[in-house]
Amino acid sequence: MAAEARRTTGAAQTEALAAALAADLRPGDVVLVSGDLGAGKTTFVRGACRALGVTGPVTSPTFTIARRYEDGRVPVSHLDLYRLAGAADEDPALLEEELGPDRVAFVEWPHAAAVGLEDARVAARVTLAHAGGDDRDVTIERIAA
Ligand code: ADP
Ligand code: MG
Repeated sequence: MAAEARRTTGAAQTEALAAALAADLRPGDVVLVSGDLGAGKTTFVRGACRALGVTGPVTSPTFTIARRYEDGRVPVSHLDLYRLAGAADEDPALLEEELGPDRVAFVEWPHAAAVGLEDARVAARVTLAHAGGDDRDVTIERIAA
């Protein structure tokens, strides 16, 4: 279990950190991405997706909970659980479908999930924090399978 802490000074640097992580991901891996609004969670996921070969837009799925990108070297699910916020009526099947053994999944706002993440094979926990201007403190904790 290794944690890596970096200060990035722009979106491109955060995307590059994400790309380095992506190189080690395999199907079934789940990456939890935490941090305040605007901290760079979606930017990080975009960098990882580009490294995985996803070519289309990677944008925040806030109003859909989940987006799927199927054109990379591995199918990717991108979830934003902000809207769930621990809702009692959360459908457990949703996460099950998106966190399948054949996919890589990135989950923004993982703490909003009331159910469904406990069985996930979490490969890394990423935390982003504002550090003034375009600076961000990015922590990547890799979790051995
Ligand atoms: P979140 O998903 O956490 O709400 P986004 O990734 O959607 O955040 O937005 C982050 C915004 O901050 C983007 O407009 C991005 O270009 C900008 N930004 C500026 N500096 C950085 C940085 N060092 N790392 C990531 N994003 C940055
Ligand atoms: Mg986002």
